[in-house]
Amino acid sequence: SNIPKIVILGAGYGGILTAQRLQKELNYNEADVTLVNKHDYHYFTTHLHMPAAGTDHMENARVSISKLIDEFKIDFVKATVSQIRTQEKKVLLEDGSALSYDYLVISVGGETETFGIPGMKEYAMSIRSINSVRMIRQHIEYQFASYKQDESRLDRLTFVVGGAGFTGIEFVSELADRMPELCKQYDVDPSLVKIYNVEAAPTALPGFDAELVEYAMNVLQNKGVTFKIGTPIKEATPEGVIVGEGELIKSATVVWAAGIRGNRIVEEAGIETMRGRVKIDDYLRVPGQDNIYVIGDNSLMFNPEGRPYPPTAQIAMQQGVTCANNIVAAIRNQQPVKFVFSNKGTVASLGKGEAIGIVGTKKFKGFTAAQLKKMIDIRYLFIIGGIPLVLKKGKFL
Ligand code: FAD
Ligand code: NAD
Repeated sequence: SNIPKIVILGAGYGGILTAQRLQKELNYNEADVTLVNKHDYHYFTTHLHMPAAGTDHMENARVSISKLIDEFKIDFVKATVSQIRTQEKKVLLEDGSALSYDYLVISVGGETETFGIPGMKEYAMSIRSINSVRMIRQHIEYQFASYKQDESRLDRLTFVVGGAGFTGIEFVSELADRMPELCKQYDVDPSLVKIYNVEAAPTALPGFDAELVEYAMNVLQNKGVTFKIGTPIKEATPEGVIVGEGELIKSATVVWAAGIRGNRIVEEAGIETMRGRVKIDDYLRVPGQDNIYVIGDNSLMFNPEGRPYPPTAQIAMQQGVTCANNIVAAIRNQQPVKFVFSNKGTVASLGKGEAIGIVGTKKFKGFTAAQLKKMIDIRYLFIIGGIPLVLKKGKFL
Protein backbone atom coordinates (compact mmCIF):
# COMPACT_ATOMS: atom_id res chain seq x y z
CA SER A 1 0.00 0.00 0.00
CA ASN A 2 1.00 3.62 -0.26
CA ILE A 3 0.28 4.34 3.35
CA PRO A 4 3.47 5.66 4.99
CA LYS A 5 4.99 3.40 7.63
CA ILE A 6 6.14 4.90 10.90
CA VAL A 7 8.25 2.71 13.17
CA ILE A 8 9.05 3.75 16.74
CA LEU A 9 11.94 1.97 18.44
CA GLY A 10 11.60 1.81 22.24
CA ALA A 11 8.61 2.53 24.45
CA GLY A 12 10.22 4.65 27.14
CA TYR A 13 9.36 8.27 27.88
CA GLY A 14 10.09 9.48 24.36
CA GLY A 15 8.61 6.50 22.52
CA ILE A 16 5.35 6.32 24.46
CA LEU A 17 4.70 10.04 24.13
CA THR A 18 5.39 9.85 20.39
CA ALA A 19 3.07 6.86 19.94
CA GLN A 20 0.27 8.40 21.97
CA ARG A 21 0.47 11.70 20.12
CA LEU A 22 0.51 9.98 16.71
CA GLN A 23 -2.47 7.91 17.76
CA LYS A 24 -4.32 11.09 18.59
CA GLU A 25 -3.33 13.19 15.56
CA LEU A 26 -3.38 10.75 12.66
CA ASN A 27 -6.54 10.19 10.70
CA TYR A 28 -7.80 6.74 9.80
CA ASN A 29 -5.47 5.12 7.23
CA GLU A 30 -3.18 8.12 7.11
CA ALA A 31 -0.20 6.06 8.31
CA ASP A 32 0.74 2.65 9.74
CA VAL A 33 2.34 3.04 13.14
CA THR A 34 4.41 0.27 14.72
CA LEU A 35 5.88 0.49 18.20
CA VAL A 36 8.73 -1.92 18.98
CA ASN A 37 9.89 -2.55 22.53
CA LYS A 38 11.99 -5.18 24.29
CA HIS A 39 9.30 -5.83 26.87
CA ASP A 40 5.52 -5.76 26.79
CA TYR A 41 5.57 -3.16 29.54
CA HIS A 42 6.73 0.44 29.86
CA TYR A 43 8.84 1.19 32.92
CA PHE A 44 9.26 4.44 34.80
CA THR A 45 13.03 4.79 34.78
CA THR A 46 12.62 7.79 37.08
CA HIS A 47 11.20 5.49 39.74
CA LEU A 48 13.66 2.60 39.48
CA HIS A 49 15.85 3.69 42.40
CA MET A 50 13.06 2.65 44.77
CA PRO A 51 12.46 -0.97 43.71
CA ALA A 52 16.24 -1.29 43.27
CA ALA A 53 16.72 -0.62 46.97
CA GLY A 54 13.55 -2.47 47.86
CA THR A 55 11.69 0.55 49.24
CA ASP A 56 8.83 0.12 46.77
CA HIS A 57 7.24 -2.68 44.77
CA MET A 58 8.47 -3.38 41.27
CA GLU A 59 4.88 -3.18 40.02
CA ASN A 60 4.72 0.51 40.88
CA ALA A 61 7.50 1.10 38.36
CA ARG A 62 5.88 -0.37 35.27
CA VAL A 63 2.68 -0.65 33.30
CA SER A 64 1.60 -2.91 30.48
CA ILE A 65 1.96 -1.18 27.09
CA SER A 66 -1.46 -2.45 26.05
CA LYS A 67 -2.91 -0.14 28.71
CA LEU A 68 -1.20 2.90 27.16
CA ILE A 69 -1.92 2.57 23.46
CA ASP A 70 -4.90 1.67 21.32
CA GLU A 71 -3.85 -1.51 19.58
CA PHE A 72 -6.42 -0.94 16.85
CA LYS A 73 -4.43 2.14 15.85
CA ILE A 74 -0.87 1.13 16.72
CA ASP A 75 0.79 -2.22 16.12
CA PHE A 76 2.81 -3.21 19.12
CA VAL A 77 5.72 -5.58 18.49
CA LYS A 78 7.49 -7.07 21.49
CA ALA A 79 11.02 -7.51 20.18
CA THR A 80 14.59 -6.39 20.64
CA VAL A 81 15.98 -4.29 17.83
CA SER A 82 19.38 -5.58 16.77
CA GLN A 83 20.23 -3.41 13.77
CA ILE A 84 19.10 -0.27 12.00
CA ARG A 85 19.78 -0.29 8.25
CA THR A 86 19.22 3.23 7.05
CA GLN A 87 20.13 2.49 3.41
CA GLU A 88 17.41 -0.13 3.16
CA LYS A 89 15.03 1.74 5.50
CA LYS A 90 14.76 -1.34 7.63
CA VAL A 91 15.25 -2.43 11.19
CA LEU A 92 16.27 -5.96 12.07
CA LEU A 93 14.93 -7.67 15.13
CA GLU A 94 16.70 -10.24 17.27
CA ASP A 95 14.28 -12.98 16.21
CA GLY A 96 15.52 -12.59 12.64
CA SER A 97 12.54 -10.69 11.29
CA ALA A 98 12.65 -7.19 9.82
CA LEU A 99 10.44 -4.12 9.71
CA SER A 100 10.60 -1.54 6.95
CA TYR A 101 9.83 2.11 7.53
CA ASP A 102 9.31 5.41 5.81
CA TYR A 103 9.72 7.35 9.06
CA LEU A 104 11.82 6.06 11.94
CA VAL A 105 11.82 7.25 15.55
CA ILE A 106 14.81 6.13 17.58
CA SER A 107 13.89 6.24 21.26
CA VAL A 108 15.69 3.22 22.68
CA GLY A 109 17.12 5.13 25.64
CA GLY A 110 20.64 5.22 26.98
CA GLU A 111 23.09 2.60 28.17
CA THR A 112 25.49 2.46 31.07
CA GLU A 113 28.85 4.14 30.37
CA THR A 114 31.76 2.65 32.29
CA PHE A 115 34.46 4.81 30.62
CA GLY A 116 36.56 1.68 30.20
CA ILE A 117 37.12 1.39 33.95
CA PRO A 118 38.56 -2.10 34.51
CA GLY A 119 36.19 -4.59 36.10
CA MET A 120 33.20 -2.27 36.12
CA LYS A 121 31.19 -4.26 33.58
CA GLU A 122 31.98 -7.52 35.33
CA TYR A 123 31.63 -6.60 39.00
CA ALA A 124 29.16 -3.75 39.24
CA MET A 125 25.41 -3.50 38.70
CA SER A 126 23.45 -0.59 37.23
CA ILE A 127 19.96 0.84 37.52
CA ARG A 128 18.66 0.69 33.98
CA SER A 129 15.61 -1.51 33.61
CA ILE A 130 13.19 -3.64 35.58
CA ASN A 131 15.44 -6.65 35.02
CA SER A 132 18.59 -4.91 36.23
CA VAL A 133 16.75 -3.56 39.26
CA ARG A 134 15.48 -7.02 40.22
CA MET A 135 19.10 -8.18 40.30
CA ILE A 136 20.17 -5.32 42.56
CA ARG A 137 17.34 -5.85 44.99
CA GLN A 138 17.88 -9.61 45.21
CA HIS A 139 21.63 -9.15 45.48
CA ILE A 140 21.28 -6.80 48.47
CA GLU A 141 18.99 -9.15 50.33
CA TYR A 142 21.27 -12.08 49.55
CA GLN A 143 24.22 -10.24 51.13
CA PHE A 144 22.38 -10.01 54.41
CA ALA A 145 21.41 -13.68 54.30
CA SER A 146 24.93 -14.81 53.42
CA TYR A 147 26.54 -12.58 56.05
CA LYS A 148 24.65 -14.62 58.61
CA GLN A 149 26.49 -17.71 57.34
CA ASP A 150 29.91 -16.13 57.88
CA GLU A 151 30.04 -13.07 60.10
CA SER A 152 33.68 -12.40 59.21
CA ARG A 153 32.54 -11.18 55.78
CA LEU A 154 31.84 -7.55 56.61
CA ASP A 155 32.21 -6.67 52.92
CA ARG A 156 28.73 -8.14 52.56
CA LEU A 157 27.41 -5.33 54.72
CA THR A 158 29.30 -2.66 52.79
CA PHE A 159 27.56 -1.00 49.88
CA VAL A 160 29.22 1.26 47.32
CA VAL A 161 27.33 3.58 45.02
CA GLY A 162 29.52 5.01 42.26
CA GLY A 163 28.64 8.56 41.24
CA ALA A 164 26.82 11.28 43.17
CA GLY A 165 24.81 12.56 40.22
CA PHE A 166 21.04 12.50 40.58
CA THR A 167 20.82 8.74 40.04
CA GLY A 168 23.50 7.96 42.62
CA ILE A 169 22.01 10.37 45.16
CA GLU A 170 18.45 9.10 44.70
CA PHE A 171 19.53 5.47 44.96
CA VAL A 172 21.83 5.89 47.94
CA SER A 173 18.97 7.66 49.75
CA GLU A 174 16.67 4.69 49.26
CA LEU A 175 19.42 2.27 50.20
CA ALA A 176 19.96 4.09 53.48
CA ASP A 177 16.20 4.05 54.11
CA ARG A 178 16.05 0.31 53.51
CA MET A 179 18.86 -0.65 55.89
CA PRO A 180 17.04 -0.50 59.23
CA GLU A 181 14.40 -2.90 57.91
CA LEU A 182 16.98 -5.33 56.52
CA CYS A 183 19.02 -5.24 59.73
CA LYS A 184 15.92 -6.09 61.71
CA GLN A 185 14.82 -8.82 59.36
CA TYR A 186 18.25 -10.50 59.32
CA ASP A 187 19.29 -9.78 62.94
CA VAL A 188 22.21 -7.65 61.88
CA ASP A 189 23.74 -4.94 64.09
CA PRO A 190 23.08 -1.70 62.13
CA SER A 191 26.45 -0.26 63.16
CA LEU A 192 28.15 -2.89 60.98
CA VAL A 193 26.51 -1.59 57.80
CA LYS A 194 28.52 0.86 55.69
CA ILE A 195 27.18 2.82 52.73
CA TYR A 196 29.61 4.79 50.57
CA ASN A 197 28.74 7.23 47.84
CA VAL A 198 31.89 7.81 45.79
CA GLU A 199 32.09 10.84 43.49
CA ALA A 200 34.99 11.89 41.24
CA ALA A 201 34.05 15.57 40.92
CA PRO A 202 34.95 18.08 43.67
CA THR A 203 31.31 18.12 44.77
CA ALA A 204 28.23 15.90 44.85
CA LEU A 205 25.64 16.80 42.19
CA PRO A 206 28.16 18.83 40.18
CA GLY A 207 26.57 21.89 38.61
CA PHE A 208 23.56 21.92 40.94
CA ASP A 209 22.78 24.66 43.45
CA ALA A 210 25.45 24.61 46.19
CA GLU A 211 23.06 25.27 49.07
CA LEU A 212 20.79 22.40 48.03
CA VAL A 213 23.77 20.10 47.54
CA GLU A 214 24.89 20.79 51.08
CA TYR A 215 21.38 20.19 52.35
CA ALA A 216 21.24 16.86 50.48
CA MET A 217 24.59 15.73 51.85
CA ASN A 218 23.51 16.55 55.39
CA VAL A 219 20.28 14.59 55.03
CA LEU A 220 22.17 11.61 53.66
CA GLN A 221 24.96 11.73 56.22
CA ASN A 222 22.31 11.67 58.93
CA LYS A 223 20.90 8.55 57.33
CA GLY A 224 24.32 6.91 57.56
CA VAL A 225 25.82 7.57 54.13
CA THR A 226 29.57 8.23 53.95
CA PHE A 227 30.58 10.46 51.05
CA LYS A 228 33.88 10.19 49.30
CA ILE A 229 33.99 13.30 47.16
CA GLY A 230 36.76 14.19 44.72
CA THR A 231 37.51 10.47 44.69
CA PRO A 232 37.25 8.69 41.35
CA ILE A 233 36.59 4.98 41.24
CA LYS A 234 39.54 3.54 39.34
CA GLU A 235 38.75 -0.15 39.24
CA ALA A 236 36.19 -2.72 40.28
CA THR A 237 37.45 -6.10 41.46
CA PRO A 238 35.86 -9.21 42.96
CA GLU A 239 36.77 -7.73 46.39
CA GLY A 240 35.29 -4.28 45.88
CA VAL A 241 36.44 -1.01 44.35
CA ILE A 242 39.74 0.80 44.16
CA VAL A 243 39.30 4.53 44.61
CA GLY A 244 41.37 7.71 44.69
CA GLU A 245 45.06 6.99 45.18
CA GLY A 246 44.60 3.24 45.39
CA GLU A 247 42.45 2.72 48.46
CA LEU A 248 40.46 -0.52 48.36
CA ILE A 249 36.90 -0.40 49.67
CA LYS A 250 35.95 -4.01 50.32
CA SER A 251 32.38 -4.42 49.21
CA ALA A 252 30.28 -7.23 47.80
CA THR A 253 27.84 -4.72 46.33
CA VAL A 254 28.83 -2.04 43.86
CA VAL A 255 26.17 -0.09 42.03
CA TRP A 256 27.55 2.03 39.22
CA ALA A 257 25.49 5.19 38.71
CA ALA A 258 28.25 7.31 37.26
CA GLY A 259 27.51 7.50 33.61
CA ILE A 260 25.16 6.97 30.73
CA ARG A 261 25.71 7.06 26.99
CA GLY A 262 23.58 6.58 23.92
CA ASN A 263 22.57 3.16 22.68
CA ARG A 264 25.16 1.28 20.63
CA ILE A 265 22.70 0.27 17.92
CA VAL A 266 22.60 3.92 16.88
CA GLU A 267 26.37 4.09 16.39
CA GLU A 268 26.33 0.75 14.64
CA ALA A 269 23.79 2.17 12.18
CA GLY A 270 26.54 4.42 10.87
CA ILE A 271 24.88 7.54 12.26
CA GLU A 272 27.39 10.03 13.64
CA THR A 273 27.30 10.16 17.43
CA MET A 274 29.12 11.50 20.47
CA ARG A 275 29.16 8.78 23.12
CA GLY A 276 26.27 7.20 21.26
CA ARG A 277 24.20 10.38 21.21
CA VAL A 278 23.14 11.95 17.93
CA LYS A 279 23.47 15.69 17.44
CA ILE A 280 20.01 16.18 15.98
CA ASP A 281 18.70 19.19 14.08
CA ASP A 282 16.13 21.66 15.46
CA TYR A 283 13.35 19.40 14.21
CA LEU A 284 14.74 16.35 16.06
CA ARG A 285 16.04 14.69 12.89
CA VAL A 286 19.37 13.14 12.01
CA PRO A 287 21.22 15.75 9.94
CA GLY A 288 20.91 14.78 6.29
CA GLN A 289 18.34 12.06 7.01
CA ASP A 290 15.02 13.82 7.26
CA ASN A 291 13.01 10.68 7.83
CA ILE A 292 14.90 9.60 10.98
CA TYR A 293 14.10 11.23 14.30
CA VAL A 294 16.14 10.67 17.45
CA ILE A 295 14.75 11.63 20.84
CA GLY A 296 15.46 11.11 24.53
CA ASP A 297 18.73 9.79 25.92
CA ASN A 298 20.03 9.03 22.41
CA SER A 299 19.78 12.60 21.28
CA LEU A 300 22.08 15.50 21.86
CA MET A 301 20.71 19.04 21.77
CA PHE A 302 22.21 22.31 22.88
CA ASN A 303 20.59 25.14 24.78
CA PRO A 304 20.84 28.72 23.51
CA GLU A 305 24.07 29.14 25.50
CA GLY A 306 25.59 26.21 23.64
CA ARG A 307 25.57 23.73 26.51
CA PRO A 308 24.06 20.27 26.00
CA TYR A 309 20.74 19.59 27.68
CA PRO A 310 21.08 16.80 30.24
CA PRO A 311 19.33 13.60 29.20
CA THR A 312 16.13 13.57 31.22
CA ALA A 313 12.65 12.09 31.06
CA GLN A 314 11.34 15.62 30.97
CA ILE A 315 13.05 16.50 27.69
CA ALA A 316 12.34 13.04 26.20
CA MET A 317 8.60 13.54 26.78
CA GLN A 318 8.55 16.99 25.22
CA GLN A 319 10.57 15.74 22.27
CA GLY A 320 8.10 12.88 21.81
CA VAL A 321 5.24 15.32 21.31
CA THR A 322 7.17 17.50 18.84
CA CYS A 323 8.49 14.45 17.01
CA ALA A 324 4.96 13.11 16.46
CA ASN A 325 3.74 16.53 15.32
CA ASN A 326 6.62 16.82 12.85
CA ILE A 327 6.02 13.38 11.40
CA VAL A 328 2.33 14.19 10.90
CA ALA A 329 3.37 17.47 9.25
CA ALA A 330 5.81 15.65 6.96
CA ILE A 331 3.11 13.19 5.89
CA ARG A 332 0.78 16.10 5.15
CA ASN A 333 3.47 18.08 3.34
CA GLN A 334 3.36 20.77 5.99
CA GLN A 335 6.23 22.58 7.68
CA PRO A 336 7.80 20.99 10.77
CA VAL A 337 8.19 23.04 13.97
CA LYS A 338 11.41 23.62 15.86
CA PHE A 339 11.74 21.89 19.20
CA VAL A 340 11.91 24.33 22.09
CA PHE A 341 12.63 22.88 25.52
CA SER A 342 10.49 24.21 28.32
CA ASN A 343 12.32 23.58 31.60
CA LYS A 344 9.82 22.63 34.29
CA GLY A 345 12.54 22.36 36.92
CA THR A 346 14.44 19.59 38.65
CA VAL A 347 13.38 17.76 41.78
CA ALA A 348 15.36 14.87 43.25
CA SER A 349 14.24 12.58 46.00
CA LEU A 350 16.37 12.02 49.11
CA GLY A 351 14.28 9.13 50.37
CA LYS A 352 11.27 9.12 52.62
CA GLY A 353 9.85 12.59 53.15
CA GLU A 354 12.95 14.38 51.85
CA ALA A 355 13.91 15.95 48.53
CA ILE A 356 15.55 18.96 46.92
CA GLY A 357 14.49 20.87 43.87
CA ILE A 358 14.60 23.98 41.76
CA VAL A 359 11.61 25.22 39.83
CA GLY A 360 12.28 28.41 37.92
CA THR A 361 14.35 30.42 40.36
CA LYS A 362 12.69 28.94 43.42
CA LYS A 363 14.49 26.44 45.63
CA PHE A 364 12.67 23.71 47.52
CA LYS A 365 13.84 21.29 50.17
CA GLY A 366 12.50 18.85 52.74
CA PHE A 367 8.85 17.90 52.92
CA THR A 368 7.65 20.51 50.39
CA ALA A 369 10.14 19.25 47.84
CA ALA A 370 9.10 15.66 48.55
CA GLN A 371 5.45 16.59 47.91
CA LEU A 372 6.51 18.27 44.68
CA LYS A 373 8.31 15.11 43.61
CA LYS A 374 5.14 13.09 44.23
CA MET A 375 3.12 15.57 42.18
CA ILE A 376 5.57 15.24 39.27
CA ASP A 377 5.30 11.44 39.39
CA ILE A 378 1.52 11.60 39.52
CA ARG A 379 1.39 14.12 36.68
CA TYR A 380 3.36 11.71 34.51
CA LEU A 381 0.99 8.83 35.30
CA PHE A 382 -1.90 11.12 34.43
CA ILE A 383 -0.36 12.21 31.12
CA ILE A 384 0.22 8.69 29.86
CA GLY A 385 -2.63 6.79 31.50
CA GLY A 386 -5.18 9.21 32.90
CA ILE A 387 -6.90 8.82 36.26
CA PRO A 388 -7.04 4.99 36.14
CA LEU A 389 -3.23 4.77 36.05
CA VAL A 390 -2.88 7.38 38.79
CA LEU A 391 -5.17 5.33 41.01
CA LYS A 392 -3.37 2.11 40.22
CA LYS A 393 0.28 3.13 40.48
CA GLY A 394 0.37 6.49 42.24
CA LYS A 395 1.09 5.62 45.83
CA PHE A 396 -0.30 8.81 47.22
CA LEU A 397 -3.03 7.37 49.43
P1 FAD B 1 13.97 5.12 28.25
O1 FAD B 1 12.94 5.69 29.12
O2 FAD B 1 15.17 4.50 28.86
O3 FAD B 1 13.24 4.03 27.32
C1 FAD B 1 13.90 3.26 26.38
C2 FAD B 1 13.01 2.07 26.02
O4 FAD B 1 13.58 1.38 24.92
C3 FAD B 1 12.85 1.05 27.13
O5 FAD B 1 11.50 0.69 27.23
C4 FAD B 1 13.71 -0.12 26.68
O6 FAD B 1 13.22 -1.37 27.12
C5 FAD B 1 13.60 -0.01 25.17
N1 FAD B 1 14.75 -0.57 24.45
C6 FAD B 1 16.07 -0.38 24.70
N2 FAD B 1 16.82 -1.02 23.80
C7 FAD B 1 15.97 -1.63 22.96
C8 FAD B 1 16.14 -2.47 21.82
N3 FAD B 1 17.37 -2.76 21.33
N4 FAD B 1 15.04 -2.94 21.20
C9 FAD B 1 13.80 -2.66 21.67
N5 FAD B 1 13.58 -1.86 22.72
C10 FAD B 1 14.65 -1.36 23.38
N6 FAD B 1 14.72 12.22 34.44
C11 FAD B 1 13.88 13.21 34.81
O7 FAD B 1 13.53 14.06 33.99
N7 FAD B 1 13.39 13.30 36.08
C12 FAD B 1 13.69 12.38 37.02
O8 FAD B 1 13.24 12.48 38.16
C13 FAD B 1 14.57 11.31 36.67
N8 FAD B 1 14.88 10.37 37.58
C14 FAD B 1 15.68 9.32 37.21
C15 FAD B 1 15.95 8.33 38.18
C16 FAD B 1 16.76 7.26 37.86
C17 FAD B 1 17.03 6.20 38.91
C18 FAD B 1 17.31 7.16 36.54
C19 FAD B 1 18.19 6.00 36.17
C20 FAD B 1 17.05 8.14 35.59
C21 FAD B 1 16.23 9.23 35.91
N9 FAD B 1 15.93 10.23 34.98
C22 FAD B 1 15.08 11.26 35.34
C23 FAD B 1 16.43 10.17 33.60
C24 FAD B 1 15.35 9.54 32.69
O9 FAD B 1 14.94 8.31 33.23
C25 FAD B 1 15.85 9.30 31.25
O10 FAD B 1 16.38 10.48 30.73
C26 FAD B 1 14.67 8.81 30.38
O11 FAD B 1 14.27 7.54 30.79
C27 FAD B 1 15.04 8.80 28.90
O12 FAD B 1 13.91 8.43 28.15
P2 FAD B 1 14.06 7.65 26.80
O13 FAD B 1 12.70 7.60 26.19
O14 FAD B 1 15.18 8.19 26.00
O15 FAD B 1 14.53 6.17 27.19
P1 NAD C 1 25.35 11.87 35.62
O1 NAD C 1 26.24 11.72 34.46
O2 NAD C 1 24.51 13.06 35.75
O3 NAD C 1 26.20 11.74 36.98
C1 NAD C 1 27.26 10.83 37.11
C2 NAD C 1 28.18 11.25 38.23
O4 NAD C 1 29.22 10.28 38.37
C3 NAD C 1 28.88 12.59 37.99
O5 NAD C 1 28.72 13.39 39.14
C4 NAD C 1 30.32 12.21 37.73
O6 NAD C 1 31.23 13.18 38.17
C5 NAD C 1 30.46 10.92 38.53
N1 NAD C 1 31.55 10.04 38.06
C6 NAD C 1 31.94 9.80 36.79
N2 NAD C 1 32.98 8.96 36.77
C7 NAD C 1 33.23 8.61 38.04
C8 NAD C 1 34.17 7.75 38.67
N3 NAD C 1 35.06 7.05 37.97
N4 NAD C 1 34.15 7.63 40.02
C9 NAD C 1 33.24 8.32 40.75
N5 NAD C 1 32.34 9.15 40.22
C10 NAD C 1 32.32 9.29 38.88
O7 NAD C 1 24.46 10.51 35.61
P2 NAD C 1 23.08 10.20 36.36
O8 NAD C 1 23.11 10.64 37.76
O9 NAD C 1 22.80 8.78 36.08
O10 NAD C 1 22.03 11.09 35.59
C11 NAD C 1 21.75 10.85 34.21
C12 NAD C 1 20.69 11.81 33.72
O11 NAD C 1 19.44 11.51 34.34
C13 NAD C 1 21.01 13.25 34.07
O12 NAD C 1 20.60 14.06 33.02
C14 NAD C 1 20.16 13.52 35.27
O13 NAD C 1 19.78 14.87 35.35
C15 NAD C 1 18.96 12.63 35.02
N6 NAD C 1 18.36 12.25 36.31
C16 NAD C 1 17.48 13.13 36.86
C17 NAD C 1 16.93 12.84 38.09
C18 NAD C 1 15.95 13.82 38.67
O14 NAD C 1 15.66 14.84 38.06
N7 NAD C 1 15.42 13.57 39.85
C19 NAD C 1 17.26 11.65 38.75
C20 NAD C 1 18.17 10.78 38.15
C21 NAD C 1 18.72 11.11 36.92
